[in-house]
Amino acid sequence: MDIPRIFNITESAHRIHNPITPEKLATLGAALRLKAGARVLDLGSGSGEMLCTWARDHDVIGTGIDLSQLFTEQAKLRAVELGVADRATFIHGDAAGYVSDDKADVAACVGATWIGGGVAGTIELLAQSLRPGGIILVGEPFWRQLPPTEDVAKGCLAHSISDFLMLPELLASFGQQGYDVVEMVLADQDGWDRYEAAKWLTMRRWLEANPDDELAKEVRGQLTSEPERYAAYTREYLGWGVFALMPR
Ligand code: SAH
Repeated sequence: MDIPRIFNITESAHRIHNPITPEKLATLGAALRLKAGARVLDLGSGSGEMLCTWARDHDVIGTGIDLSQLFTEQAKLRAVELGVADRATFIHGDAAGYVSDDKADVAACVGATWIGGGVAGTIELLAQSLRPGGIILVGEPFWRQLPPTEDVAKGCLAHSISDFLMLPELLASFGQQGYDVVEMVLADQDGWDRYEAAKWLTMRRWLEANPDDELAKEVRGQLTSEPERYAAYTREYLGWGVFALMPR
């Protein structure tokens, strides 16, 4: 049980698997006014940077679930490194349908909303683990500029323009689902560079170490084409943010 191996290769050196930076992750933690002892559930917790740093900085108690064995191992190591292994627990597993017995003060899914079959389904899933008065966090892309053609959307690795909304429409969609948007922290192009460009050096080094691997051809192809594709499409057209929601 794991994610496709290509992601475990290209993102093996990432601490944050999203265009949010460490600084913005800290801004988000502060913006939520987290209290010591607050429980945070994170579906698709990746390498655990959000839970580990918030446990360190705000004394929260976190549980993360992630399908990548590698990222989950890295999250556990990061918790030890930051001295929060007693407060940040990481489980390797499928988070689809995961509902926690201990209701959370913050229930998050940051950049993995396919876990609940899309944004709406993920909000419904997270709501089942939320205590009254708690906050749902959803990390999701939106169109920074509307792609003029479907080909441009595909250049952003979307299936179609309809995959994402413009920011005002995305915010409105939360209201239509019965939620107040109570905070948000948005990524910027520098943050996208940290997420996307960091893959290139990882791919280059991996190729040097694994020239005969069955994925070497695919990784070589990506390293050759990704910088230009990314600069032409994702960097220009795609925005990304974490949105904090409370039921109305
Ligand atoms: N929230 C983290 C990771 C985002 S990347 C961060 O911001 O750094 C998306 C994550 O979802 C990856 O870590 C991937 O392993 C995980 N994932 C994908 N499908 C999953 C599933 N069904 N259940 C749990 N995690 C999943």
